[in-house]
Amino acid sequence: MRTHACNLLCGAGKYAKESTWTCDTIPVFTKIQKHYTAEELFSDWETRGWITELTRGTHLVITGGEPLILERQEQLIPFLKMLKDPFIEVETNGTICPSPALNTHIAQYNVSPKLTSSGMPKAMRFVPEVIQWHCQNPRSFFKFVVTNKEDVRDLTNTYITPFNIPLNRVWLMPGAATRKTLLELQPTIAQLAKESGMNFCSRLHILLYDQTTGV
Ligand code: SF4
Repeated sequence: MRTHACNLLCGAGKYAKESTWTCDTIPVFTKIQKHYTAEELFSDWETRGWITELTRGTHLVITGGEPLILERQEQLIPFLKMLKDPFIEVETNGTICPSPALNTHIAQYNVSPKLTSSGMPKAMRFVPEVIQWHCQNPRSFFKFVVTNKEDVRDLTNTYITPFNIPLNRVWLMPGAATRKTLLELQPTIAQLAKESGMNFCSRLHILLYDQTTGV
């Protein structure tokens, strides 16, 4: 489930000149296709057979944009209450805490805090109390998008060391938007993960579909 809008604008607009990469989902999450009430969405998913899939163990991954924008949290809760407790993951940039009411529905947080290379000012992308909340939550895992050693130094100095984040809860992901650049970059990032003791993950959707969206 991709929700509309984000509180950051990584590598885009006036932040482009300070960044080494650009968020590839901005064109997708800024395009509103339809507003749904909780009832309309449930009915649509029932018709597609997705409610049945969720009861059979399929994970629901809520992403964005930023799904924890406060207005979005309020809109999500009535819908999540209608589901029969499936395994729900939230992908978040780690700048906004989930409300207690939303948190009761979430099984896992995939937290992707942004680095200097995103071009975003630190005051916008770094919210210590939210990072602290996720550190204390055993259901939160951290995923950093990196392109070089400098990024790994940055994430270590800004997040890992100050918050004492266990490395087995940290993943490095190559910052690449096309299959070609991903294939070129990922051996370097895998090596950085090995050297630093962190986990490595690729970008499966790009390996499979390159830049095609909606698949
Ligand atoms: S926080 Fe994530 S969704 Fe928002 S602009 Fe940055 S990369 Fe894109």
